[in-house]
Amino acid sequence: MARQIDPATRDALLARVRFYRDLGLTEFYRRPVDPALLAQLAAEPAVASDEPQRDSSQENPIPPRKPMQAPPAIASALPPAERASALQIIRDEIGDCTRCPLHVGRNKLVFGDGDPAARLMFVGEGPGADEDAQGLPFVGRAGQLLNNMINAMGLKREEVYIANVVKCRPPGNRTPEPEEGATCSPFLFRQIDVVRPEVLVALGATAATYMLGTRQPLAGLRGRVHAVRGTKLIVTYHPAYLLRDPRQKKEAWADLQIAMRELGLKPPGRG
Ligand code: SF4
Repeated sequence: MARQIDPATRDALLARVRFYRDLGLTEFYRRPVDPALLAQLAAEPAVASDEPQRDSSQENPIPPRKPMQAPPAIASALPPAERASALQIIRDEIGDCTRCPLHVGRNKLVFGDGDPAARLMFVGEGPGADEDAQGLPFVGRAGQLLNNMINAMGLKREEVYIANVVKCRPPGNRTPEPEEGATCSPFLFRQIDVVRPEVLVALGATAATYMLGTRQPLAGLRGRVHAVRGTKLIVTYHPAYLLRDPRQKKEAWADLQIAMRELGLKPPGRG
């Protein structure tokens, strides 16, 4: 029988795993067992127990890493005037989606928001509680911080486009499972192809992973310009992480300045 973890320990573990994830650490491995310790345990007499013996031959090994599925082919560019209706076609196609398990706890599906012909597009991981309630991306505290970041770049929120890797809220704000991300992310790629921004900004490790198709620590992805779907991609911290560790805001601002440089933008008040 699986061992139960008390709720307080479980919440603490979840918070720690989220913290590591925001740092870009997404893979965890069991530490190899010391053979000397194993030999010592084997030599000790068995202790009688009411618990049925587990059959170790039935334990699942850690599954090998699955290669991420290839993204769909890049669609042709549309004239700016046709982009809003093209996005609506994607939204209609998603419909009342039940393609992955995330639909079960969904209140509102969060498709995306902003200028359909934006020069700058932000991509996050998935909706949180506020987004799930309102059906709009980045409307909670993290959204307020993102708005501030956008304003600091000399832009208004309605001038950019914002979307997520998954469009339904993962329970407890957990990271989307690979199957969920793989099922939903093709819609994101189609949104990117329609909006065709000059610069994409991945907010956090999950967004960067799905857009780049590779799992790498965030630290190794920040500070440079990547190429994704014919567009420049900058990787930075998720605003929710910046709320937990405001010391990293300076680093995030440095990332946004790379995006501004690529867009030819200057911070407001600096001519
Ligand atoms: S997360 Fe995406 S694929 Fe899953 S149910 Fe929601 S819209 Fe459908």
